[in-house]
Amino acid sequence: MSNAVRSVRQLRNLLPFSDQELEIIGRLEADYKLVIPPYYFSLIDPEDPNDPIRLQSIPSAHEAENPSGYELEDPLEEDQDSPVPGVTHRYPDRALLVTTPACSMYCRFCTRKRATLTRGGWDTISRDDQGMIDYVASHPEIRDVIVSGGDPLTLPTPKLRFFLENLSAIKHVDVIRIGTRVPVTLPQRLYDPELVALLSSAQKVWIQTHFNHPREITPEAKRVCNSLLRGGMPVNNHSVLLKGVNDNLATMRELLRGLLRIKVRPYYLFHCDPVIGAGHFRTSVWKGIEIMEGLRGHMSGLGIPTYVVDSPHGGGKIPVMPNYLISASDDAVILRNFEGQIVRYQAQDQPATIDPTSTRGVSALLQGTKSVLIPDGTERMIRRKRRAAQAAAEDQLNGCGSNGAGHHEAEPALLSLGLRNGVRPEAVTE
Ligand SMILES: *Cc1c(COP(=O)(O)O)cnc(C)c1O
Ligand code: SF4
Repeated sequence: MSNAVRSVRQLRNLLPFSDQELEIIGRLEADYKLVIPPYYFSLIDPEDPNDPIRLQSIPSAHEAENPSGYELEDPLEEDQDSPVPGVTHRYPDRALLVTTPACSMYCRFCTRKRATLTRGGWDTISRDDQGMIDYVASHPEIRDVIVSGGDPLTLPTPKLRFFLENLSAIKHVDVIRIGTRVPVTLPQRLYDPELVALLSSAQKVWIQTHFNHPREITPEAKRVCNSLLRGGMPVNNHSVLLKGVNDNLATMRELLRGLLRIKVRPYYLFHCDPVIGAGHFRTSVWKGIEIMEGLRGHMSGLGIPTYVVDSPHGGGKIPVMPNYLISASDDAVILRNFEGQIVRYQAQDQPATIDPTSTRGVSALLQGTKSVLIPDGTERMIRRKRRAAQAAAEDQLNGCGSNGAGHHEAEPALLSLGLRNGVRPEAVTE
């Protein structure tokens, strides 16, 4: 940390900037802190002005803009759901503690910028550590405490011990979540076995970390996630959907697979909050849905986060995803899968009341006169057809071709779908 880049004066010697950029980020420096440890800085490709690590950590001239006026200082209204300074109590059984304004690297898009990046912003939040503990202790409905900041792993060890010991001694607290970007931005802090032992000794600790790009998954990051896991602490990740950083399917898949490789479980994908000076990072919600469409079914479910929009007016996290429910009736729901197969699903074993009105498409599925619409030529169906053809050829070799004919003839792959009522599937080609 003592070697961290902390000023525009240092930055201008390390990366190329235009004069205009330098002028604007020089002015921003008076309002916002800038800290980048050498390790995280070393992940930046200096030749690429749009490098995803650079975008997250280096101030941008866009931070001076709030074009719509929609961006706010406290977009989630955390301060309005704060019963005592430093605590946000929004959900029935969870509370969030802001324990420090300090981070090992200041993410330019930080939701809590008012406390973390903003110079002097912390003064309006809290320093009453005992008050926060007392609040949790006197609210037996709180089961899960999110120890956040800033980054609690930048706290001096005795202060971190104070929080951990006091919280773990509260009987009704089942889970202590440490929200930290240290594994990503300063993993060396966790090379300290004493720190890992302290976290581990609190028994109830889960780690909530924050990788946003596959290039952040380095051998150093892997090493510390591994030592946290060996210390008995599950490691979950949230990412923020950021324009130019991870707002495309290929990067997102690479990130999620990389996390699985180091046994870090993707938990949330956050839509970027409307915080002042972060507007240039925000994508449409459609972009998030498009990415989620490319994940579910296409890759291991263990690697799929829940995409959430954090609601204005303190409404909390709202999950958003593509629609898998196409239609419904009293008898059945019409669902679609990741391949686009549209299927009738009868949840209860009741006879379908088939209306004689002639229908087609999804409506026919609802009425039960058809039971599935299959897109032409999905890989899975091609594999089925190939296997069925193989089986038919083998039957023929064994001399039972004529007996089994009914089973393997004419669209064998589709017949093996297990249809009810002899309903024939219909292929759709669009
Ligand atoms: C995100 C958040 C939590 C934790 O929510 P989970 O859905 O349980 O992860 C708790 N309190 C606040 C204020 C939060 O923003
Ligand atoms: S580490 Fe977390 S709290 Fe700190 S600046 Fe980044 S997003 Fe904000």
